[in-house]
Amino acid sequence: MKFNELIEDSQIADGLLIQGIEEPTVVQADAYPLIKQQKNVIARSQTGSGKTLAYLIPLMEQIDVEEKRLYTIILVPTYELSMQVFKQVQLLASNSRKDIRVVSIIGSGNINRQIELLKCKPHIIVGTSQRIFELIKRKKIMAHTVNTLVIDEADKMVDKNTLQPMLDVRKCLYKNIQILMFSASMNKKALEKAREIAVDASVLQYEDKESIPDTIQHMYVITSRKEKIETLRSVCSAVKADKCMIFFSKQYETQEAFDKLNYHHYKIELLTGNGDKMQRKNAIERFQAGKANYLMATDVASRGLHIDHVDVVINISLPDDTKDYLHRCGRCGRNNEKGLCISIVTENELQKVKILQKTFGINMICKKLYKGQLVRG
Ligand code: AMP
Repeated sequence: MKFNELIEDSQIADGLLIQGIEEPTVVQADAYPLIKQQKNVIARSQTGSGKTLAYLIPLMEQIDVEEKRLYTIILVPTYELSMQVFKQVQLLASNSRKDIRVVSIIGSGNINRQIELLKCKPHIIVGTSQRIFELIKRKKIMAHTVNTLVIDEADKMVDKNTLQPMLDVRKCLYKNIQILMFSASMNKKALEKAREIAVDASVLQYEDKESIPDTIQHMYVITSRKEKIETLRSVCSAVKADKCMIFFSKQYETQEAFDKLNYHHYKIELLTGNGDKMQRKNAIERFQAGKANYLMATDVASRGLHIDHVDVVINISLPDDTKDYLHRCGRCGRNNEKGLCISIVTENELQKVKILQKTFGINMICKKLYKGQLVRG
């Protein structure tokens, strides 16, 4: 099926075509009629499966651009994700030749500037809960006109730290508004919580388990704790990735690795939770544009980010939460491209390798470095 057979608005179908998007993905085809019927939806679908457009297309279609009112609030956990969704709305609006106005409202942004931006009477607001709540309280955001609340990265948003601010926003909206919750991973507990928020929701789930696309190959290299960064450098030169993300569990580990690779003239950018907003934005843009071919990141900083054509992911250590492995390796192998995920582990981490293989039904191949190449370990 093509988009112009699924969706009603030919301008949006044409806009999608300009973006090279012709056929809906499964989640897009399934979510579209439900969203159009004003149903609440909870959707869990793999990273890179087109989740953002799955909710944006039907919501953008419903907007009457002549109306100067807010239709949709999209809540996301991070600044980067807010920018990503914001850009997708802008791109599709412009390609569809529709004057759909969108504003991004995030906690670290200048509030006065945000108040200024809100004067354009946006149809869509995307951003983080606390700041949006603050602006609703100050009557700068008119929450009573909202038809739909989208909660993106929903499992993260129902986490204990982010739940309350999200509920604060929810309470300002009409009781019977439409609620859409999208996420790549959602365990039983998160799903239960989501069901309490999106009452009577239609639930779209595509796998029994949270699964990893089978286009991704998995490897691990055993080393000592002390040798990890040196091993990282050897793995990097053996693999020769075009675009590689390197994941760290702890922020403090990143600087040493960054300095080391930098010293050896690797083109790297750093993305950590404590980098300032501009630094993070520049890091992503430079990596995205291919000006740097390595991006070092922590889990928190990289959640939900979509960067095209990442071919390799390297884990400098394995995450404690298996879900983070899914998110990390899901940065490569998107849209059926091939991907490679290499983990640098100590003997002590081998237990985690076993757990990951069992949880996700993946085969992680043991490799070692020999004469600058990765060979069977
Ligand atoms: P997401 O899962 O929302 O992070 O989307 C991943 C990427 O897939 C984005 O760059 C989208 O532009 C792209 N995309 C979304 N839907 C489609 C589609 N139906 N066909 C091809 N690419 C798509």
